[in-house]
Amino acid sequence: MEKMIPELYGSQVFTDRVMRDKLPKDVYKALRKTIEKGTHLELDVANAVALAMKEWAVENGATHYTHWFQPLTGYTAEKHDSFIAPTDNGEVIMEFSGKELVKGEPDASSFPSGGIRATFEARGYTAWDPSSPAFIKDGTLYIPTAFCAYTGEALDKKTPLLRSMDALSKEAIKVLKLFGKEVERVSTTVGPEQEYFLIDKKDYEKRRDLIFTGRTLLGAPAPKGQEMDDHYFGVLRPRVAAYMHELDEELWKLGIPVKTKHNEVAPCQHELAPVFDTTNVAVDHNQLTMEVMKKIAEKHDFVCLLHEKPFAGINGSGKHNNWSMSTNTGVNLLDPGKTPAENLQFLMFLSAVIKAVDEYADMMRLSVASAGNDHRLGANEAPPAIISIFLGDELKEIVDSIINDQFFAKTDKVVMESGAAVIPHFTRDTTDRNRTSPFAFTGNKFEFRSLGSSASVATPNIILNTAVADALSGFYEQLKDVPADKFESAVHDLIKDTLTKHERVLFNGNGYTDEWVEEAAKRGLYNLKSTPEVLPRLLDQKNVDLFTKHGIYTETEIKSRYEILLENYTKTLHIEACTLKEMIYHDFLPSVSAYMKSLTDEILGKRAVSTAISTAAEEKLLAHLSEQYGALTELTEQLGSDIAKAEVMDDELKKAEFYHDPVFTDMQKIREVADDVEVYMPDAYLPYPTYSKMLFYV
Ligand code: ADP
Ligand code: MG
Repeated sequence: MEKMIPELYGSQVFTDRVMRDKLPKDVYKALRKTIEKGTHLELDVANAVALAMKEWAVENGATHYTHWFQPLTGYTAEKHDSFIAPTDNGEVIMEFSGKELVKGEPDASSFPSGGIRATFEARGYTAWDPSSPAFIKDGTLYIPTAFCAYTGEALDKKTPLLRSMDALSKEAIKVLKLFGKEVERVSTTVGPEQEYFLIDKKDYEKRRDLIFTGRTLLGAPAPKGQEMDDHYFGVLRPRVAAYMHELDEELWKLGIPVKTKHNEVAPCQHELAPVFDTTNVAVDHNQLTMEVMKKIAEKHDFVCLLHEKPFAGINGSGKHNNWSMSTNTGVNLLDPGKTPAENLQFLMFLSAVIKAVDEYADMMRLSVASAGNDHRLGANEAPPAIISIFLGDELKEIVDSIINDQFFAKTDKVVMESGAAVIPHFTRDTTDRNRTSPFAFTGNKFEFRSLGSSASVATPNIILNTAVADALSGFYEQLKDVPADKFESAVHDLIKDTLTKHERVLFNGNGYTDEWVEEAAKRGLYNLKSTPEVLPRLLDQKNVDLFTKHGIYTETEIKSRYEILLENYTKTLHIEACTLKEMIYHDFLPSVSAYMKSLTDEILGKRAVSTAISTAAEEKLLAHLSEQYGALTELTEQLGSDIAKAEVMDDELKKAEFYHDPVFTDMQKIREVADDVEVYMPDAYLPYPTYSKMLFYV
């Protein structure tokens, strides 16, 4: 019988309850302390935890363990070791030590390091992250870990993420203390909404572009797209419903609190969202979710596409990073609250976020930059490349009145003797959602909407946490020596100054319009359109200063990330360009040629029967196809020669720029001609399924 959900939930996870049951009391206490406060774990404690973990894992069918980490590829990595240890009498016992739990030494030479690790010092190590729970998958115990070079530099996304969470916690605690609040930890929370496509596996297997690049490089539009608005929240196809059902169960077993699922705007597009969690756990869960989504899809004869733009002409997929900060006492710092004091504190944290996003808008943009996401940002389906903040009418009005000196002074808004102002309590604004804004306040959290669907959510949160930590640290410096009786008015001034200075980043209007692009330029906001345009900003002094000041990245780590991001862009474009070339030569031109031959035979056949029979229509089509065939050949030759030119370039930035233009431009020109030809081609001659077939499978 199917397990009840509460029993099923987390059944594959080494949860707090399992720990409490399995561990001696003092060990459990020591471990909790490490998890909650990040304190060092003694080896005897680690040994006891390892023993309990192994027992639990073996009881639940595990034979292996792995240190699970997140190298800079953006994917996860794992190497499995079995628990077996041979004994003298030729048998084996199952063993797992504290040392093995705490530290691993994978051969790390093949992971990108952006020049940090020379080949002669190829080793790296993984270190257990007790703040994210271990779990069992496919007979292996997965231990979430951070991944570093032997020289100490972080080679992964988790280490800087944890550092950024610590930085924010540290600064937020200091600021809260000024408000008389004693808290031990401020955690950032994240709920990522994940979009994806499901297409029939049979169709996928016939397209080299989907196999190699995750997106279609060719394909004329289907007669129907998303114009009828009939897919969004539409009834689920039974096949899709069955997939989602199994996906839910698998994710629940792994302790991932998936809650929402529905059809999205584009045909074949869907969305899944979990309940939010601490950022670190949410990032791990999102990585795991993407992996399980793909795996379960195979079982249902689907392929799950996580690419940002699998199909031209209809929406691509993104991820919404819902983000907030909350104290260990359970207070959400972005909740406007009901009392005046909470209001003031809320306004201060709100101001910190506004300042952070304005000052580091270039880094926010960078955090979502990838070849795939370049297709979406600014294409009127996702927010523009310009980073701005939507506050909603009510809050914007409050901000305006603060800037205009009306808010804190106005008597009808002041209810406390101290002169503190009250913001009317917000009801969560679910109606007036501005879908065009990259960064929107949604009642008690911000929603960063520019993320691509396939990327790890670690980087955007590293940037956000760090930039906000920096703003808070500045606030603390300004307020720390203010005498108690002047504190409130000093906070008013600070909020007013901050909002006045950073008002330019606030925008409640339609982000899809040309007017906004012009207006944003006037306001001096960044409009970094493509990945090669964004990436060099990482090396700007102000950004290097930000990361080094808060101990998030060393300068070496920043340079390595820059190199890896550039390389990743270039390699992606290279693979796409080569795939397109192969499709044109191996699939497309031969098909057009075969069809032209059939037309030629038809014309000659008709003529042989009688010259009185008209061949005008066939000739017209043949002439058009022949001309386009010629054009395609020339364009593809051009693409080939541009790829060759790019590949010999030494300067990585120039190379990336060259891939952006002319290589990507070549690809678009080819697509234009090929998609025109496709319209005239009979299905029987087409080498792969069309958009009509793929998006409207039965
Ligand atoms: P939407 O209408 O955009 O789907 P929801 O209210 O469903 O908005 O929330 C979307 C996501 O935001 C969910 O994953 C939810 O758990 C998450 N969320 C809610 N509160 C917070 C918070 N304080 N911090 C981070 N994420 C949150
Ligand atoms: Mg959303």
